[in-house]
Amino acid sequence: MDQRSTTGQVPSGTKTAETPGNAPTIRLENIVKTYDLGEVQVHALRGVSLEIYPGEFVAVMGASGSGKSTLMNIIGCLDKPTRGHYFLDGKDVSGLTKRELAKIRSQKIGFVFQQFNLLSRTSALENVELPTIYAGVAIEERERRAREALQRVGLAEREGHFPSQLSGGQQQRVAIARALVNNPSLLLADEPTGNLDSRTSVEIMDIFQKLNDEHGLTVVIVTHETDIAQYAKRAMEFRDGKMKKDVVIQNRSIASEVLPTLPSIDEDLVGDIGVESPQPSNGDTSAK
Ligand code: ADP
Ligand code: MG
Repeated sequence: MDQRSTTGQVPSGTKTAETPGNAPTIRLENIVKTYDLGEVQVHALRGVSLEIYPGEFVAVMGASGSGKSTLMNIIGCLDKPTRGHYFLDGKDVSGLTKRELAKIRSQKIGFVFQQFNLLSRTSALENVELPTIYAGVAIEERERRAREALQRVGLAEREGHFPSQLSGGQQQRVAIARALVNNPSLLLADEPTGNLDSRTSVEIMDIFQKLNDEHGLTVVIVTHETDIAQYAKRAMEFRDGKMKKDVVIQNRSIASEVLPTLPSIDEDLVGDIGVESPQPSNGDTSAK
């Protein structure tokens, strides 16, 4: 059953471009997640069924406590459902061990967090490289891949900077590069713009839209900001652990068109405060 046909905003029978003939990337079947705290049980997800297809860009919305992060953690193979089935690329992953889930995660999924979660005493390049180590990528290949990922988010020239020497937006871009470094097909982001000002938020949405449009990545983000959700192609709303709404976004916002209309902040200035240490300009990185 296409839940979108029940919302009223989408005429019955309407399909998105991604729907026909394609196998879903994500299929949740009656997912239940209950946190058992001994005295009390928290019913975080109360039976969620949904499908997300390759190339979709979904915004998950809902009040605090409605189950969004729980849902993302299950989709991202960071946690397991209490009941129900999760099919990722057609494979039921709900019964896998933590180790098996970690392997799938490192092959298929990139995850971006609200707090960036970068290692503070580690350069941008090394932060981005980390997942390639877990994935067993050869050492000569790691740095090349990390540089390429930093380039994709427009931060090539910041590879030697530590997180404290970068603005919030730049730190989030490093985190996105880290999520991309193993070439995932699915990019998940839990409130990625929650700590950013509005222009920087649109810059992050610009990166997500380009990854989705130009590289075909399937993108799922959590946001509680309606204007941020407008950059997605489809929006879901959660309440009390259930999906209450699932709509196709009409007239979505295009970040590259919105950005020129916003006042710009000089991010280079922010990033450069106290960072005028001489950097080798010949690409020599042997000084590690
Ligand atoms: P959201 O991301 O929409 O704010 P969450 O998925 O984080 O919601 O939380 C859903 C519900 O589950 C909330 O009531 C929250 O307190 C509870 N919850 C989330 N994580 C845990 C946990 N690890 N242990 C116990 N309860 C949790
Ligand atoms: Mg949350």
